[in-house]
Amino acid sequence: MNPITEPRSPILPRWRKLGTRSALSLLTLAAAFLFAKNDEESFRKLREEMVRTQLASWRFGVDAVRDSLVLEAFRQVPRHRFVAEELVPHAYEDRPLPIGYGQTISQPYIVAKMTELVEPRKGHRALEIGTGSGYQAAILSRLVADVYTIEIIEPLGVTARERLTALGYKNVNVRTGDGYYGWPEKAPFDSIVVTAAANHVPPPLIEQLKPGGRLVVPIGNPFQTQRLVLVTKGGKGPRDIRVQDIMAVRFVPLISESGGK
Ligand code: SAM
Repeated sequence: MNPITEPRSPILPRWRKLGTRSALSLLTLAAAFLFAKNDEESFRKLREEMVRTQLASWRFGVDAVRDSLVLEAFRQVPRHRFVAEELVPHAYEDRPLPIGYGQTISQPYIVAKMTELVEPRKGHRALEIGTGSGYQAAILSRLVADVYTIEIIEPLGVTARERLTALGYKNVNVRTGDGYYGWPEKAPFDSIVVTAAANHVPPPLIEQLKPGGRLVVPIGNPFQTQRLVLVTKGGKGPRDIRVQDIMAVRFVPLISESGGK
C-alpha cells in the first residue's frame, strides 16, 4: 500500500510505528491470555464435575459429602496448582497423585470426607499433620480462621509454603518437623487432621485438642488398608474421649523423626 495515497487514520500510523514484529508479539500475548482464560474456565468446570460426581453424590460403599461450605471450598481451590506440571491433566481425577519423595496428594473424596468430619467453622484453629502438597491446608484455610500444618520432609514443606504464599493463602502456617508431637505453642486446636497412617492416636495431639474438638487419623498397618477414626474430646479432662470408626482408607505411613515408621 502506498502510504501517500492512504487515507489518514489515527490508528494505522501507530500500528505501523510498532512494526510487524511487535504487532505479532502483541497478538501472541493476546492469544496466550485468551488460552489462559479458557484454561481457567476449563479447570473450573472440571472442579464442578469433581464435586458433583466424586464428592456430593452417593457412590457404592461411600457416603456423600454433604457440608455445602466444604463442597464450595473444593469448587474454589485449584487442585491443578498443587501437582507437578506433567500431572496437571490428571489433577481432577478420582485418585491420589504422586508429589515426590514417595508421598502423595490424597484422593479428593478422602480430603473432603476428613474435612467434613472435623466440622470446620469460621472462627476455628486447625492443625494438619502431613502438609504434602499443601492442598488439604488450602481447603481448610477457606473454612477456618487459622491453619497450622507440619511436614516432616523439608523440601515438601518448603515447596508447599511457597505455593500457598503464591496462591494467596495468608492464614496457613507451615512448619517442618515431626507432627507426632503437634504444635504445642499454637494449641489448643478445634480440629486436627492427620494425613498419614499411625499405629495409635498420638497422645500429644489429643492433649492439644480443645474440649469439644475433633481429630481424624488413619490408624493401622501402614502397608495395608487402615481405619479412619474420628476422635472427639469431651469436657471432663484428657481421658474424656470418644473414638468412632469411620471407614477403610489407605495412607502413606506417619514417619518418625528418628527415621522409623
Ligand atoms: N495432606 C497432603 C496434601 O494435601 O497434599 C497429603 C499428605 S500425604 C498423604 C502424607 C504426608 O505426611 C507426606 O507429605 C509425609 O511426608 C507427611 N508425614 C509423614 N509423617 C509425618 C510426620 N511424622 N510429621 C509430619 N508430616 C509427616
